Amino acid sequence: MKTNYDLIIAGGGTAGVATAISAAKSNLNVLVIEKNTFLGGSMTGALVMPMMKNLLKNGKNLSGEIVNELMSELRKTGDALTYSDKNTGWFNSEMLKCTLDDMFEKYGVDVLFDSVVTDAKLSENKIQNIQITYAGQKKYLKAKYFVDATGNGDLASLCGANFKNGNDGVNQAMTLRFIATNVELKRFADFLKSIDDDREISPISEINGEIHLSTACTWDNDIWKLKPYFEKAVQDRVLKEEDCAYFQIFTIPNQPSSVAFNAPRIFAKKSLNPLNSEDTSYALIQGRKQIRRLMAFCKKYLPGFENAYIAQIAPMLGIRDSRRLEGEYELTERDILECKKFENAAAKSNYPIDVHSLKKNENVLNKISDDDYFEIPLEAMKVKGIDNLFAAGKIISATFLAQAALRIIPNCLSMGESLGKYIAKLK
Ligand SMILES: Cc1cc2nc3c(=O)[nH]c(=O)nc-3n(C[C@H](O)[C@H](O)[C@H](O)COP(=O)(O)OP(=O)(O)OC[C@H]3O[C@@H](n4cnc5c(N)ncnc54)[C@H](O)[C@@H]3O)c2cc1C
Repeated sequence: MKTNYDLIIAGGGTAGVATAISAAKSNLNVLVIEKNTFLGGSMTGALVMPMMKNLLKNGKNLSGEIVNELMSELRKTGDALTYSDKNTGWFNSEMLKCTLDDMFEKYGVDVLFDSVVTDAKLSENKIQNIQITYAGQKKYLKAKYFVDATGNGDLASLCGANFKNGNDGVNQAMTLRFIATNVELKRFADFLKSIDDDREISPISEINGEIHLSTACTWDNDIWKLKPYFEKAVQDRVLKEEDCAYFQIFTIPNQPSSVAFNAPRIFAKKSLNPLNSEDTSYALIQGRKQIRRLMAFCKKYLPGFENAYIAQIAPMLGIRDSRRLEGEYELTERDILECKKFENAAAKSNYPIDVHSLKKNENVLNKISDDDYFEIPLEAMKVKGIDNLFAAGKIISATFLAQAALRIIPNCLSMGESLGKYIAKLK
């Protein structure tokens, strides 16, 4: 392994892997430092799947080529599919870990797992080297350029960069995702059809000989056909009221009897701060309590789940927002809602401003026109005051509300792809 790289990326998550692959394709020597034992970050570790749809009304894809490349690789083994709403981003998160290993090998990206970026040495507004820690040992690594793709802004923070966190200190709700298996999907699909004829809320399709579906229910209003089942479970004391805040499930390609839960929304009496390890530790323990209650609910009230069991609880907590680094440009909610375009666009999207609040009736979902899109400029990825440091992913420079639109997987991947190309041109 080298000790001097063209580019070192802190964090091999969603944006980090895209940056690395793109830079390596442009002939940079790239090293990724990753805290987990696998690549993919929230996509694999937090079990966040599928990708949100990023298409115009006319079907034009807004995402970068990297999204297509990843999904094409996964489709070869049936580990990704295009859903009935034309979303190409349904994937199997476990197999994505392997696909990303293969792609790193193919493009010659070096990676150190189980290693944490723990310090940085700067001189004249430039990072000279970074310190990583593995098994109680410190190691120093040099590069010409660095990218913070830690999802938390760890490297930028170690460099003393300015950042904001939350909306007046209040972050979006956290979620600990999980997978249940041994679900009889045919019976569950028939049950959904019998209670819910709105196929937008509960779409059901047969794809590659497997049943695929998703459905949801929140405590905010009465449109959800599953709501009476949640209310009954609260009366029966199987669930607590807070367990009903947000429930969403998706089937998984190549896991024919499994469903992935975008739930539970972690209950807390105060807003949880992703930069406080007491809060995140509470969230993990509380999340695992809520998961057991949700599973008991599914088994008792949802036909098809009688013999289901918890197969996996995400090793990573689902954190929607954390540090937002000060960049050369701060993307605003106005830019999003007015579909602003930029000279140096790194990504295009029409995902809404989507805030998951801890409090009832305080969620935000501000949609933009589905025949237009906003852009994310490269300037929001340049960390102010540090000449050779860039940010990628959900931590880039944005207001709280703008971040709530840009944070989805396709945008993080597209940003990383553009950033890798940009840094290669600088060299
Ligand atoms: C509960 C939840 C549900 C979501 N649902 C969807 C959805 O359905 N569809 C969608 O498209 N998007 C969804 N999102 C949004 C999306 O998943 C994330 O915003 C996106 O994946 C973040 O990518 P990232 O690269 O910024 O961070 P991550 O993918 O989290 O990557 C950060 C990486 O950095 C590593 N790391 C952290 N600190 C260090 C360090 N000091 N040293 C070394 N490595 C470090 C981490 O281990 C991790 O691998 C959801 C998010 C959450 C939390």
